[in-house]
Amino acid sequence: MAKAGRCAICGRPGTVRVPHANAWFCDEHFPTWLERRIRRVAERYGMFEGSRRVAVAVSGGKDSVTLLHALKAIGDEVGFEVVSLHLDLGIGEFSRASAEVARRNAEMLGVESVVVDLKSKYGFTVPEAVRSTRRPACSTCGLVKRYALGEAAEDVGADTLATGHNLDDMAQFIAMGYQSGDVEELARLRPVVPAEHYAVKSVKPLFLVYERETAEYARVKGLPTVSLKCPLKDATSGWIVREKMKEVEEAMPGFMMRFVQEFAEKIQPALAERYLREGEVGRCRICGRPTSKGREICSFCAVRMRATGMATA
Ligand code: SF4
Ligand code: ZN
Ligand code: ZN
Repeated sequence: MAKAGRCAICGRPGTVRVPHANAWFCDEHFPTWLERRIRRVAERYGMFEGSRRVAVAVSGGKDSVTLLHALKAIGDEVGFEVVSLHLDLGIGEFSRASAEVARRNAEMLGVESVVVDLKSKYGFTVPEAVRSTRRPACSTCGLVKRYALGEAAEDVGADTLATGHNLDDMAQFIAMGYQSGDVEELARLRPVVPAEHYAVKSVKPLFLVYERETAEYARVKGLPTVSLKCPLKDATSGWIVREKMKEVEEAMPGFMMRFVQEFAEKIQPALAERYLREGEVGRCRICGRPTSKGREICSFCAVRMRATGMATA
């Protein structure tokens, strides 16, 4: 560990080191600096242009909790309100603890807090969905969350849905997309997704924020976060790639940032032009939302049918 430097804002002894910016910050100024950076990134990519009501997906983890607090501060400055959206996935004690953390953070900020219970709304929990399919748990959970959050954001009258995907998540998705050659998946991986599937646009304001930065933000501000690990989390090859990329980052500070930013600004747009054919999508005959590759039933409805016993895997 390098000898602590001085805070780049006030000159007092630094407590948080930010290698990619070659800077140190004190506990007081690290959150200020991070919020400013999130705001700059959001402005550069037009994330909140025209936004008046932003639903923030709060799982209770450090990324989503950081996102809620940072967007509340930014929203107060630029003029949008935030609503905390929490999905109860029905994963036993883990879900109970997560809901409590989401509620406490919303209460700290005095923001509206909405909890959507998957079982009541759609008739199944994530463990039931996972048991009904051979897909990896997090992949099934991810698709269920995307759908349920999109609908919940519409239901609360939001125009924008913000999710807490960080830079490490994005680097992992990109690397795994290259490995599998799934060009359509890569073409859809964007920091701003226009309102197509849902009536809200979807944004990832932390996509250039390192995971360790959200951890520091939550620590420095003393924010409640979920300490329990999700019991369904699968050890996929994606996690190995993620850890190895962090080693490269250690040796070359800023590597992951350039990897993700160059992808977002040059590679994804080129892939989208070549592989995203929005006009060709069909409509799900159950829920009416867009389906990929002309399928009759969307992936969410397929999972729901299996999880509720309306279809076999
Ligand atoms: Fe869902 Fe996986 Fe996260 Fe658990 S670890 S909540 S299964 S995405
Ligand atoms: Zn300072
Ligand atoms: Zn459907």
